[in-house]
Amino acid sequence: MADLSFVKGIGKVTIEKLNKLDIYNLEDLITYFPYRYEILKKTSLYDDKVVISGIIESNPTINYFNRKNRLGFRLRIEDRVINVVIFNRAFLKQHLLVGKTITVIGKYDKNTLTASDIKLEDIGDKTKVTPIYHLVKGLTNKNMNNYINSALSSSYVIDYIPEELVDRYDFIDKKNALINIHNPKSSELLNKSIYRCKYEELFLFMLKINELKNKNSLMNKGYSKEIDLEKVKEFISSLPFNLTIDQEKTLDEIFCDLKSDKRMNRLVQGDVGSGKTIVAIISMYVMKLNNYQSALMAPTEILAHQHYENMKKLFKDMDVNVKEILGSTSKKEKDEIKKDLLDGKIDMIVGTHALIQDDIMFNNLGLIITDEQHRFGVNQRANLRNKGNMPDVLYLSATPIPRTYALTIYGDMDISIIKTRPEGRKEIITKVKNNSEIKSVLFKMKEELESGHQIYIVSPLIENEESDDEDIKKLYRKFSLAFKNYNIGILHGKMNQKEKDQVMNKYIEKEIDILISTTVIEVGVDVKNATMMIIFDAYKFGLSTLHQLRGRVGRNDLQSYCILMTDRETERLNIMEKVSDGFVLAEEDFKLRGSGDLFGTRQSGDMNFKLANLRKDYDLLLKVKDDSNEILKKISEYPLLKGIICDSINKD
Ligand code: ADP
Ligand code: MG
Repeated sequence: MADLSFVKGIGKVTIEKLNKLDIYNLEDLITYFPYRYEILKKTSLYDDKVVISGIIESNPTINYFNRKNRLGFRLRIEDRVINVVIFNRAFLKQHLLVGKTITVIGKYDKNTLTASDIKLEDIGDKTKVTPIYHLVKGLTNKNMNNYINSALSSSYVIDYIPEELVDRYDFIDKKNALINIHNPKSSELLNKSIYRCKYEELFLFMLKINELKNKNSLMNKGYSKEIDLEKVKEFISSLPFNLTIDQEKTLDEIFCDLKSDKRMNRLVQGDVGSGKTIVAIISMYVMKLNNYQSALMAPTEILAHQHYENMKKLFKDMDVNVKEILGSTSKKEKDEIKKDLLDGKIDMIVGTHALIQDDIMFNNLGLIITDEQHRFGVNQRANLRNKGNMPDVLYLSATPIPRTYALTIYGDMDISIIKTRPEGRKEIITKVKNNSEIKSVLFKMKEELESGHQIYIVSPLIENEESDDEDIKKLYRKFSLAFKNYNIGILHGKMNQKEKDQVMNKYIEKEIDILISTTVIEVGVDVKNATMMIIFDAYKFGLSTLHQLRGRVGRNDLQSYCILMTDRETERLNIMEKVSDGFVLAEEDFKLRGSGDLFGTRQSGDMNFKLANLRKDYDLLLKVKDDSNEILKKISEYPLLKGIICDSINKD
């Protein structure tokens, strides 16, 4: 896909900014959809939120006080004149010329309209709809819209939906649809445009899922393994806990797969903290008893290392050779491990997903396990099957998607679900608090720290100078002042892997008491001593994300706490206080998401749809499933689609 530098008005500096939003090429840019629309409609002066146009009657005056400023002028609205004031917008003065018609948004009281925003145009009686994009510093909504329009006007847009389907559903053409989404004229046209783009998004997704499913059924011949129940039971009884019913059930399903001569291709879905890891480890042990090697892959080095430490402990006195390969592993060590893997001296290898791409060869690889599979997409799933000699594959995922949805979007796999929680776990006490209640939170923090426990603090942003929302840097300054005697660490996605690992390891080793972080800690870390999490601007997260974050505490029998700080939208967050079941929260999320926004927020991994929403568009998904199957049967007639499938799935 064409380079961004071809777009008029986009230079090197802008490209860097766009990259931060994951926009790397023209296609990314034109499908960078607004996350909501601002709808401005004329009101009367007496509405709660006033939106009204008028003519400027007087030159604006500016008063300065305490590093703030107030700009004021008179505005004629039909036959009356009112005062308008707006704070900290002194720079608007040059645009506010007498006689000009502008639109003011704000609150009216006692002949004065206190404005929150001023638009330098007349909205008249029309409804004005402006697309609003997620942005980074230095980009405005207007810039973004201009870049996108410039890209749209100068480029050819590839349409992926086969013509017969376009005809069947009477879709408008893709370029028009995109133009409409970025410049909506009527809600009817906008809805049609969104529908069409959603269809395409889901179509490409289901095409891959269906292709994977077909492939799996063609290439499903594997090798039958024996389950040495006596040894397995002995191992299980050496664990410091009893397995839950669902862990046992899942193991039974896995054993069934292993015994049959079909290849296993199974997803284990289980809420955070439900104990998926041990199921994976027992499966690897069964493989070892059958003289097969296993590979366990995690999305981050921290997590991989944690698994390794865990396994080393569990297999300490047994004839099981476990090794790890990480970025920090020296070349010498790596070479040795590679050699031993090839010679069959290593039974289990742990690493990140690089493990499968590296030039690593196995002697007898029988099982591949990927942890936190929801972080990855369909494409990675496809690559796994090609490694080794028809290995069984097990995926672990904490995304608690209701079963019906799971059956469709994970249609290429069998599914086991772990619902029961390990015994003895206390519910995490969750409280929604207004920002003004921070004192009580600090008090609780002090208590936990004095008991020798650790704390997570989460903020949605790394740095944000343009608003009062909390960000990591601000929080770091504040908490450093409040807790001078404790060690505070920072963790965010802009740090490189080594820096992140260093901080995380310090936290694991208790050298850090309070860890301030973005959502990068979301993925599976297990620090049992952490008993409190405080999430700032919690309203910015979906319930499922909050739940995943919360799952970082409450990892043993200590009472844990999760505080959701917010100064708005508490009703939705209150659900978190009452519900601790991730499946129920996911359902709520599906119901709620997008109700305020026209578009849902972006998710990662498998459900990384830009427009589609699994719940709301489920009927569409089912339709797409059938349509994509129909097209798949005659895929050779569609070289473009065939190319996409080959690129992403059939890579060997
Ligand atoms: P997740 O499913 O989120 O990956 P883990 O596998 O990390 O969860 O398990 C969370 C914690 O619970 C671990 O410390 C693990 O040792 C422990 N655990 C797992 N199964 C049980 C069980 N049946 N009883 C008690 N603790 C368990
Ligand atoms: Mg896990």
